[in-house]
Amino acid sequence: MNLLLRDVQVDGVLTDVTIEGDRISAIGARLPVPPDAIVVDGERGALLPGLHDHHLHLLALAAASTSVRVRPGNGGDPLGFASELRAADTRLSMGSWLRAVGYHDRTGRPLDRWVLDEIVSDRPVRVQHRSGALWVLNSAGLDALGLLTGAPPPGCELLSDGTPTGRLWRLDAWLADRLPIDPPDLGAVGRRLCALGVTGVTDATPTADTSGFDRLASASWLGEIPQRIVVTGAPGLDIGSVPSSLTVGPAKILLPDHDLPSLDELVHQMRTARAARRNVAVHCVTRHALVLTLAAIDEVGAVAGDRLEHGAVIPSAVYPAIRAHGLTVVTQPNFVAERGDDYLAEVAREDLGDLWPCASLLDAGVAVGAGSDAPFGDEDPWRLIHAASQRRAPSGATVGADERIPAARALEMLLSDHRQPGGPVRRIKIGAPGDLCLLHTSLSAALAALPDNPVRAVVIRGCLHEPA
Ligand SMILES: [Zn+2]
Repeated sequence: MNLLLRDVQVDGVLTDVTIEGDRISAIGARLPVPPDAIVVDGERGALLPGLHDHHLHLLALAAASTSVRVRPGNGGDPLGFASELRAADTRLSMGSWLRAVGYHDRTGRPLDRWVLDEIVSDRPVRVQHRSGALWVLNSAGLDALGLLTGAPPPGCELLSDGTPTGRLWRLDAWLADRLPIDPPDLGAVGRRLCALGVTGVTDATPTADTSGFDRLASASWLGEIPQRIVVTGAPGLDIGSVPSSLTVGPAKILLPDHDLPSLDELVHQMRTARAARRNVAVHCVTRHALVLTLAAIDEVGAVAGDRLEHGAVIPSAVYPAIRAHGLTVVTQPNFVAERGDDYLAEVAREDLGDLWPCASLLDAGVAVGAGSDAPFGDEDPWRLIHAASQRRAPSGATVGADERIPAARALEMLLSDHRQPGGPVRRIKIGAPGDLCLLHTSLSAALAALPDNPVRAVVIRGCLHEPA
């Protein structure tokens, strides 16, 4: 099916655009209607290249949409969180798991099985910490998984007498093998991303096996997720077995924030990626992880396309090293808007000035791309853009005012090619892929109305997707 977009603004100029097959075939005033074309009156709305979220997690996002989401506000109030869980408890069928995501300790008493038992005790409950690194189970949950009687796997936190506390660190794969299968609704994720103008994503999950990729590939093949999907996977991943409907991106190296590997181990992981001719994308949230990563890159050598994921804390003293290696920082400005009050309350004073840098990195000549880290961050790219230009916490407090960038510049961090997250903006030109985002208004009006979502429709591989 071909497409004619009438009266759209491309780089501020009113024009028509045709897409034939999956490519842009003509741009100009009063274009003739191509054969079998759908004609869309653009009503002078801006036409942009489709947005690419450079860092998110599709399966986790789909699973999160069927979970209780602990948000700032209701998680800050322990009773608010409890009432959310109790309300979900009444909605679910007997005996099924209750799943909650986005938890963050604010009360001083860490969440454990006994705290959860006081809230819901007669069905299995699991609550994910918002970092993604920790699951907390109630006693019924531990029992359902055999953890009250069997040998606990490493990562299952124990009291000195061997009693499990319910806190399971980095045990997602172990849990996935034992939990009832509850197929996540990837179609809902695809529709949501379309409604937000997203035409491509990089799934930054460091999985070592390809079963998750098979689910993504089938969702792609069935059209549930129409977006182009780039996957990362771990350095040891057998890339030959990745389904062809997915694009293989850099190898994701996860550095557990609480248990960093040795320099030798990290160098080994990077060399494994290099042996498969892959770039690396290293999870760098803390100052220590960053220093370790740069030391490993010094040893292995950087290749164009290597990335630092998150860059939550980057002292300006290391900007020259990042730039000299040509590393791209893939940042999440949205976290400042979502978690800014927690940062102001909890982040060490010496780190506050180095938190989620953006403007200063760009000024130093470092390439910066953006991704939402959904479901750990909000998947809405327009909120991300707004956050980058405002740097305001939910309370309204400013976090790092000097790191603000103009909204139009923040948008560019989502318009770059997936191979170069901080690289040049993709352009609407003849022969370019038919991956486009049509707004209701001009771009300047859309940016002035942020964080409202300005998207009217997307085109992906030449196919029109309008929100219902
Ligand atoms: Zn992530």
